[in-house]
Amino acid sequence: MLATLPLEQEKNPWLAAEVRFNRAAEKLKMDDGMRKVLSMPAREITVSIPVMLDDGRLEVFIGYRVQHSIARGPGKGGIRYAPDVSLDEVRALASWMTWKCAVVNIPFGGAKGGVICNPNLMSDNELERLTRRYTAGIIEMIGPERDIPAPDMNTNERVMAWIMDTYAMHVGHATTAVVTGKPMELGGSRGRKEATGRGCMIVTLEALKKFGLRPEDTRVVIQGFGNVGGMAARLMARAGFRIIGIVEYNGAVYNRNGLDIEALMLHRQETGSIVGFDGGEDIDRHEAMFLDCDVLVPAATENVITSENAANLRCRILCEGANGPTTAIADEILADKKIFVIPDILANAGGVTVSYFEWVQDRQGFFWNEDLVNSRLEEIMVGSFGAVTAYGEKHRVDNRTAAYMLALDRVGCAMRLRGLYA
Ligand code: GLU
Repeated sequence: MLATLPLEQEKNPWLAAEVRFNRAAEKLKMDDGMRKVLSMPAREITVSIPVMLDDGRLEVFIGYRVQHSIARGPGKGGIRYAPDVSLDEVRALASWMTWKCAVVNIPFGGAKGGVICNPNLMSDNELERLTRRYTAGIIEMIGPERDIPAPDMNTNERVMAWIMDTYAMHVGHATTAVVTGKPMELGGSRGRKEATGRGCMIVTLEALKKFGLRPEDTRVVIQGFGNVGGMAARLMARAGFRIIGIVEYNGAVYNRNGLDIEALMLHRQETGSIVGFDGGEDIDRHEAMFLDCDVLVPAATENVITSENAANLRCRILCEGANGPTTAIADEILADKKIFVIPDILANAGGVTVSYFEWVQDRQGFFWNEDLVNSRLEEIMVGSFGAVTAYGEKHRVDNRTAAYMLALDRVGCAMRLRGLYA
């Protein structure tokens, strides 16, 4: 049935989430009632956000916050600003947060927020007014015990500081634990910025052991050079991996002997793009995804690996740094090609794991040094990778299905223990 879907539908993230959910629920023989509950978001809100633009015009933006599940703890998940945000996308992303937090076994449910806007076309002042008004719109839903936002696409620690301040002004006291991914000066955690990229590196190192590869022998292509892809590239290069390709939305750069990532970062900072870097050659960005390599890390956006191109991939390991980079139909093609997939809900869970550490530190008012953050992150990522792959081997399912099964089981168990309030 899936294989005949038009590409547009194949790319609907909510459908991608549903297909994976159903596959895992079936394998778990989960009963129908629990399936119904877990397949629906627990709570969602749409807010209109009037913002006075710098030129004096009044514009209205649309924002969402979806709590998919709050069974295992408060909702947790980022807020993205992008022109193509949709409620279906935010729902899918919220459900992925539920499963992600359960895979790494941190005491959170799953949530996500998004605002339809183009932050590249907005001034800092407009973004601040948008952020504060959006926060006011969702304020009943969020809080350290309720739902804790964080950065996602096009949001950052400055946006988190505005959310924290707006919330604090409403409740009447500084409440740092209401958001994570904050500046260090406002209760942010050491290691948070690098955490998603570091997590990608840790699970890739674990996967290499299965292939008998050393980092020095490992050729990596990374799609995306932002907070996730850029950090993954930097940390992997430092660990000795050969990063042979970096792909961005406006170009790609290749060097078969390995790119100097620090120099490329500098080049991008100076020129605004990775194109024209003299430590490598510019190549077609569509081709770059299909370079012969050992590890491919899609670390940008959803739906980059689809039924149309999955057959062309030439990697052995796919480490999903982004949320939802692979469509459900492409899953089957990757399985046929025997590509070892480290699914998004495991591969990119380093970010939310250090968000959890940040929340714990804020609530304790006691902060950890970077080594402690990194070693605790490593312990969780290595343990979760081991749990997912062992589960997959035991039940003879692929890693993604194993991760979903593990997660669904944990969330289902929490719900059964709580019982039904009626
Ligand atoms: N936006 C990140 C994610 O998708 C981080 C979420 C968080 O830290 O709450 O995992």
